[in-house]
Amino acid sequence: MSSTTKHYFSQDFEQSRETFRGHLEKIKKKWPDAELTSTSIGKEQDNTIDMIYSQATGKNENVIFMSSGEHGIEGYAGAASIHVFVDEFLDKIDPENNGICLIHALNPWGMRNFRRVTENNVDLNRNYVYNRSELLEDVNKKYENEEELFVPSHTIKDLKKEKAKLYTDLSKALAREGYSGVKQAKGMGQFEFEKGVYYGGKNVEENTLFLKRVQQDLLGNFQRVIHMDWHTALGPSNEVAMVLPGTDSRDTEEVKDKYGMKNIVRSSTDTIKGDSNNHFYLVKEDYPETYLFSALFEFGTFGEGKKAELRELMTIVFENQLYWEGAEKEEDRQYIMDEFMAMFYPQEEEWQEDVIKEARYAIESLLKGEKVL
Ligand SMILES: [Zn+2]
Repeated sequence: MSSTTKHYFSQDFEQSRETFRGHLEKIKKKWPDAELTSTSIGKEQDNTIDMIYSQATGKNENVIFMSSGEHGIEGYAGAASIHVFVDEFLDKIDPENNGICLIHALNPWGMRNFRRVTENNVDLNRNYVYNRSELLEDVNKKYENEEELFVPSHTIKDLKKEKAKLYTDLSKALAREGYSGVKQAKGMGQFEFEKGVYYGGKNVEENTLFLKRVQQDLLGNFQRVIHMDWHTALGPSNEVAMVLPGTDSRDTEEVKDKYGMKNIVRSSTDTIKGDSNNHFYLVKEDYPETYLFSALFEFGTFGEGKKAELRELMTIVFENQLYWEGAEKEEDRQYIMDEFMAMFYPQEEEWQEDVIKEARYAIESLLKGEKVL
C-alpha cells in the first residue's frame, strides 16, 4: 500500500470511523459550532452512523452535504472521498455562508460486515418508498417470475457447477423476459422475499428514518442544499460517474456542461423503486423556496457492457447465497468474497489511487458548478 492509499482507505469499519471522527477537530477551526453525533442503528450498540454537522457561521445560504455507506461496503471509498474533501477543500469554503453536513456509514452493519445490505437484508436504496400502499398493487412481476435466480435455496456445494447452472438459468430468463426484463427485475427491487437479492424491506429501516430526518432538516434550514452521495461499482472502471435522479428534467448535455463531468448516468423512477435520491426530491416539494441538487457518485469497478453486468449479477447472487446458505468448500467461499470485494471495494492500489483523483475531480466540478468555490 502506498502512503496515499493508506492515508485514505481503511481496513475495517472501526478504523474508518475513527478517521472520520478525527475530522471534527479540523472542521471546528472554521466552524466552531460543528458537532459530531453517533447514532446507534440496529441490534448492536456499536454500529453507529456518525455525522459532523454545522450551520453557516453567518447566513445559512448553502449546505455542502456528503453521505457515504448507504450500501455498507461501498462506504470505504465514500469515507475516502469525504476525507479528500476535508483535506483539500475545507480551506477554500467560506463558513460565513456555507454549512456542512458529512455522514459516515449510513449502513454501519453492512460496512462492518462487508455487505451492501442491512442486517435485515435490506438494500437501503430500495427502502425509501414514498407511498407504501402503492407497493401492494405494484409488485415486481419480472422478479417473481425469476424467483429461482434471485432467492437462495441451498448450500453451495461446488461453485463451478453452480456457476454453470446460474448461466443456464440466466439464459432461460433472458429468453423469457428479454434483457430489459431481467434488468427490470433487479432494478425495481422487490418487497416479498426477505432472503432474496435487491430486497427493499417490509418496513422502513432505522437507517432510512435517520436520513429522512436529515433531508428534512437541511431543506428546512438552508436556501440551497448540495448533496453528493458516494457509491461504488457502477459506470466505467476506475472513473467517477454522476447518477442523476430521474426527476431531474435537464438535458444530460446541459448538465455535463454545467459541471464539466465526463460521465453522467440517469436513473429513472420506472426502474428503481424507493431510492433515497428520488425521495429527497419528493421531500423538497414541501420546500418550494429551497434549491436542491442531489446525486449519486459512483466509482466504477467491473466496467460497462453486458459481460460486466453478468459478472455483477453473478457476484451479487452468489454473495447472498453464501451469506444465507454457506459453502461447503473454503476455496468457493474465498472466491465469492474476493469477487464481491473486487466489485465494491477493490484492494488494488491503482483503483484506490484513481478513486482519490476522481473524487477530487468530482468535488471540484460540483462545487464550482454550484458556485460554492
Ligand atoms: Zn451503491
